[in-house]
Amino acid sequence: MGIRTGAQYIEAVKARKPEVWLSGRKVENLFEEPVFKQPILEIAKLYDMQHDPEFQDKITHVCEETGERVNNSFLVPKSYDDLIKRRNVFEAYAKATFGLMGRTPDFLNVVVTSMYYNSWFFEKYNKNWAENVRNYYKYLRDNDIFLTHAIINPQNDRSKNSHEQKDTYTHLGAVKETPDGLVVRGAKMLATLAPVTDEVIIYSFPGFAPGDEKYALAFAIPIDTPGLRIICREPMQDGKRSFFDHPLASRFEEMDALLVFDDVVVPWDRIFLYNNVEAANKLYPMTGAGQQPAHQSGVRGLVKLEFATQVAMKVADTIGVDGYLNVQDQLGELAQSLESIRALLKVAEYEHTMTEHGEAMPAYVPLETIRGLLPKMYPRAIEVIQIVGAGGLLMSPTGADFESDELRGSIDNYYVGREGISSLERVSIFKLAWDLCGEAFGQRLLQYERYYTGDPIRKRGIFYNNYKRQTPLTMVDEALKGAQLDNKEALTN
Ligand SMILES: Cc1cc2nc3c(=O)[nH]c(=O)nc-3n(C[C@H](O)[C@H](O)[C@H](O)COP(=O)(O)OP(=O)(O)OC[C@H]3O[C@@H](n4cnc5c(N)ncnc54)[C@H](O)[C@@H]3O)c2cc1C
Repeated sequence: MGIRTGAQYIEAVKARKPEVWLSGRKVENLFEEPVFKQPILEIAKLYDMQHDPEFQDKITHVCEETGERVNNSFLVPKSYDDLIKRRNVFEAYAKATFGLMGRTPDFLNVVVTSMYYNSWFFEKYNKNWAENVRNYYKYLRDNDIFLTHAIINPQNDRSKNSHEQKDTYTHLGAVKETPDGLVVRGAKMLATLAPVTDEVIIYSFPGFAPGDEKYALAFAIPIDTPGLRIICREPMQDGKRSFFDHPLASRFEEMDALLVFDDVVVPWDRIFLYNNVEAANKLYPMTGAGQQPAHQSGVRGLVKLEFATQVAMKVADTIGVDGYLNVQDQLGELAQSLESIRALLKVAEYEHTMTEHGEAMPAYVPLETIRGLLPKMYPRAIEVIQIVGAGGLLMSPTGADFESDELRGSIDNYYVGREGISSLERVSIFKLAWDLCGEAFGQRLLQYERYYTGDPIRKRGIFYNNYKRQTPLTMVDEALKGAQLDNKEALTN
């Protein structure tokens, strides 16, 4: 089949019956559920872009193996040019969603593509796992499947490992082997967009200890597999607010969910790893499942930061405050942050390395630098919007107020912006800004940037340790040359 259309994606959503819980009730019709409908339509637009002549050649390619057109996120990058082809789809999808949807289909496509190309890793432990990963990649690619993922355990007692939790199956673990597959029980935390995806893939960050064998798992199943329960967090909006009042929250709400596996049977041909602590700890670093998707996250993060920067600039301009030096200082800081990320991405692509298996890997140091900086830069951009927009951010009337003949005169007088900016224009911009910097929707976007890729503090610690290993401190030694206590001679150079 190859690339799907938006309509085909929507048909698939309508055809499935996953067990989705939202605010205390089971959702019967996902597509008609107000909280999900617009996000489904936004994702459908991404599928349609694959067929749009404006984008098709940029974001898809003809698969050598099948002769069908597939998304560039399924490309195994073998060169700089391949990385750019892949970047094109990251950028196109991020721009279509202003970087506000982090888990668009391209993200996990890259994860599975990377596991596929590094199936030698699975082969080392079990030939069936390797075969399953290879087949799963082809299934995803050829059917243009939309995946969610859940890689961390629920946040219960973080001071204890999985096997030390009070209940054996608080964290997802294997219960028993049957001829039909492996029975799994317990929960995994935070699968973004789970209700509106086709399938879920489970794997983990490193951190397993001896005794955690039953929790060392990687597999994928359809999202409507019997026994899989999806518990949504409280929605950030009800799906009924107008596009005018909430131009972002009404479109780009990415639902997050806890996944509960109630004795779910995972077929053997969908098991990628099981009962092996060493393999589970090495999967993430050794298969590129961390580094390759960081390319997608970097491109998306850049678009999101660019959007927030433009919103801040627009807010300042709309009320005529960007002539003040303090405001220029803050907006200039955002522009410099943005340009630093843009430059780092280029470096990550130019300075890619080739793995011994012939895969082009965007460079680790600039990608990790992006991962370390964005959790600080994005919240700062949001803070600047709050500071520059000040009280006006809280003061916007609603679309209904604009439509009232009795009120309209007052609104046009008192909500007008600087010369040349009408009340409608000013209020529209401030509403957009408030969705981003004030609404619960915007706070989630901020929390996403901090945590979507794991704990930024521990990530930076890992980065520092790697950096230290690879950075001989020779400049200090050089500076100390001749600086011994007993040296009385002048240094010549
Ligand atoms: C909006 C959003 C969307 C997400 N989407 C997904 C998704 O689609 N799929 C997915 O799998 N995950 C997703 N994540 C989850 C993400 O992977 C986790 O939030 C992240 O790994 C951090 O884990 P945690 O939230 O459980 O925090 P914790 O690990 O519980 O950390 C809480 C605090 O304790 C500290 N801490 C905890 N343990 C240690 C330790 N051992 N050493 C030092 N400090 C420690 C941390 O620094 C942090 O300050 C998402 C997260 C967010 C916020």
